[in-house]
Formats: sequence, structure tokens, C-alpha cells
Amino acid sequence: MITKIISKVFGRRKATASPAKAGPVIYGPSKHHIRKDLISRGARKTCEELQRAGHTAFVVGGAVRDLLLGFQPKDFDVATSAHPDQVRALFRRSRIIGRRFQIVHVMWGAETVEVSTYRAHFTKEAEEERQDEHGRVLSDNVFGTQAEDAVRRDFTVNALFYDPVKEEVWDYQHGVKDLIAKKLVMIGDPATRYREDPVRMLRAARLSAKLGFDIEPRTAQPIRELKPLLAHVPQARLFEEILKLLLSGSAVACVQRLRELDLHHGLLPLLDNALEDPVTGPFALAALRATDERLRDDKPVSPAFLLAALLWGRVESRWKALEAGGEPSTPALHSAMHDALDAQRGKLAIPRRFDATMKELWLLQPRFLQRGGQRPHRLLEHPRFRAAYDFFELRARSGDAPLDVAKWWEDFQEAAPHDRDELLRAVVHDGQHEGGQKKRRRRRGGRGRKPAEGAAAEESP
Ligand code: ATP
Ligand code: MG
Repeated sequence: MITKIISKVFGRRKATASPAKAGPVIYGPSKHHIRKDLISRGARKTCEELQRAGHTAFVVGGAVRDLLLGFQPKDFDVATSAHPDQVRALFRRSRIIGRRFQIVHVMWGAETVEVSTYRAHFTKEAEEERQDEHGRVLSDNVFGTQAEDAVRRDFTVNALFYDPVKEEVWDYQHGVKDLIAKKLVMIGDPATRYREDPVRMLRAARLSAKLGFDIEPRTAQPIRELKPLLAHVPQARLFEEILKLLLSGSAVACVQRLRELDLHHGLLPLLDNALEDPVTGPFALAALRATDERLRDDKPVSPAFLLAALLWGRVESRWKALEAGGEPSTPALHSAMHDALDAQRGKLAIPRRFDATMKELWLLQPRFLQRGGQRPHRLLEHPRFRAAYDFFELRARSGDAPLDVAKWWEDFQEAAPHDRDELLRAVVHDGQHEGGQKKRRRRRGGRGRKPAEGAAAEESP
């Protein structure tokens, strides 16, 4: 499909190419396959309204790139010659957001279209004035022409415009050529562009992996040297970009690309430690793979689940160490969780909104090994049972938990009530459940210790 689309675009490109540098190469409707009905209703209507009012307006960026490649875009952004207040005045349901660079959110039913005014890219001198000592851009609020707006974007394939009224693709930066060659090429001087915004290094990894593109050598080359600049990026922005990467549908490929670029080390310990641990690394990788598969199947994914999986190696090894040092199991697990979260916070802070779910998933793990009495029934009723079971099952498949126990839980969930009792009896006969209970009896009998760790584990989540 992609080859067909590309050859269609490529085959006719020469005939329509405008003179180099004078302006954009414009591909008319017969030169590509993007029909206006592929554009979301909101983005299409926004462009139509803006054009009717005398402005130019295009769908821009990732959506045009993805449509040319035959992918379904995540969202449709609009770029226009109209200033934010002009956009705001045209659409009843709209609001201006942002301070440094204002954009307008235009609402169409459930859809929100992000509309930005063409923005200029700055000359070297002007840029220096606006940069901090690391070269990061501090102020950004200057409008420009459409051609300038193309230049200030990151990669050539991200600088394509699509006019949903005339069904034309406008290309100022040879984006179509690079798209056909499956190459990610930075616009302008790559080192300068990474200094302006170091997150572009992560975007290079994510987009090249997601699109199956090579990063052009000139674009890849400065990354090794400039990667320490990521340390100056605000944590929230870095986290947001990591989340995009993990939820891109190509998390495994993205992480692989990060490793090739040596971007996963030190700065991104979440990925670094998680995958290199010989015991829990396979589980972290399995969690990434499972996330990719779920996204491919259009199933919902939980960032907290994935983050919990990536940090599990650290939690588990600390937990085991504390237990080996004589600490009872449940308090040891609590300490291990806090240690892992604290250590992570010192590097790349995971927003606290994810904490509760992550902790719950971790705390429920030991309970899958406690299958005596009514405990499995109670665990089954836990509101987070399903996610915790998926977590346990993935661990089991990766050699981090007993497979037969995961299988038992699968049967237990699916069984009719009377069959469940049968399964519970089978556990007692096999003596398999005793993991938690034996220990508990031993502790109670042997040392007369209360409360029992198993019971505490049960109550704590
Ligand atoms: P996707 O939405 O698939 O993750 P995208 O390319 O659309 O990828 P967005 O973050 O939605 O990424 O950005 C939209 C567009 O804005 C990009 O295509 C690019 O043109 C521009 N852009 C985004 N981030 C940067 C950046 N850091 N530097 C320069 N241009 C950028
Ligand atoms: Mg986008």
C-alpha cells in the first residue's frame, strides 16, 4: 500500500515541481491520494472557514506525513495566516491558549482542532538573543510566512501542508522526496536545531522508529555529542515525550532506536535499568511488546501499567534484598516501592497521578501466590484484579513468576462458581498454595509473630 502511494506521488513529482527555492512544490489532487474526506470533519471545516474569511489555512505536520504513508493520523493540526484573535473571532466555540506562543483550540463536537498561526524561524543573531547559555530557545512569539513556518519545523517530512479545499500538498522542504526515501532529515543545521530544542533528539528516535525510517547520517551524527543537553529540559516535558514514545504503538522499536543512538543511558534510567536487568528485563520488554500489540488492536492501554512494569525490576530486587535481610515480606514490599519511586523521582520524575495505580499493581503481586481459603475469591473481587492479573501473567511468561500459578488463575477466573471450589481444593491437595501460608504458619508457630504477613498483604492495597 505504502509503495503504491509513494510511487504514485513520486512518479508524477517531476512534472509538477515548482522552481527550486522560489516556493513550494505543489502536488495537485491527481498527484497524491489524500482526499479531503480523509481529514477529520473539524480540521476540514476549520480550514474552509478560515479560507472563506480570506486567510490561507492548511492541515500540517504529522497528519499529512501519516496520510501520505497510509497511516491513520492521531490528530489533525491546522496552520494558518490568520492571527490568534482573528481565528478566535471566526469560531464561536474556540479559545486562545498558551502565553509564549498563542494557539487557538477550535471545538467541533468532541473534536478539538489546534490552530496555530505561521511562525517564523529566526536568523542566527536573533536566535542568540533568545537563547539561554545552552542554546535553548526562550521566547517564541513571532509570526511569519508559511515558508518560514515550514523552516521552523523539525524534520522535512513534518513540514508538509495539505489544503483540504483544493486537495493540494505543499512541500517547501523536500519532505515528499525524503518520505519516499524513508529518511528522517532535520531541517537546517542539525546540531543547531538540537541545541534550540534537545527534545528533537528524542523525537528523531521516536519518529524514525514509528515510521520505519532511517535517520539521515547528518541528522543522527550530532546526537551522541549533544545528548547531555537533555538534562536541561524540564522534567515534565521530558516525561511527556517518553510517554509519547512508550505509547506510540512502536515502543519496542523506539527503545531499540534509543539504544542505537545511546540516548537511553543515564538520562532515561526508566528504560536503561529496566531492560538491562537479566531477571526482570525480559518482563519489561514483554510489557512494551504487549502495549504495542494492544495499540495495534485498538485496545486501551494504561500508562501506569507500563510504568509499573518498567520499574518492577527495581522494586522486586529491592524487595528481595530487604526480605533476605530479615524484613517481613509486606513491609519490605512497601519500602521497596517507595525506594524505587524515590530513586526514579531523582532522575525522571513520574507524575504523582500514576503512583496509586502503580503501587496497587505491585502490592497485588504477592497475593497471586496465596491461594488458600477464601483469598482467591477476595482477590478476584478486587477492582484492580484484571490489570494485576495481566501484570502477573506477563511476569510468568517472562520467567519472573510461576507459570503454573498464572495458568491456575486463568482457569479460576473463567470457571463457574462450583468449579472454582474444585480448583481451590486441588491447590490444597497439591500443596501449591502454601507459598504464603506455610511461611505464615511458620512465623506464627515458630516465632509467634503477629500480624501475619499474608494477612497484611491482603489488607494493604
Ligand atoms: P505524532 O503526532 O505522530 O506524534 P507529530 O509530528 O504530529 O507526530 P506533534 O508533536 O503532534 O508531532 O507535532 C506536530 C508538528 O509540529 C510536527 O509535525 C512538527 O512539524 C512540529 N513540531 C513538533 N515538535 C517540534 C519541535 N520540537 N521542533 C520543531 N517542530 C516541531
Ligand atoms: Mg501530531
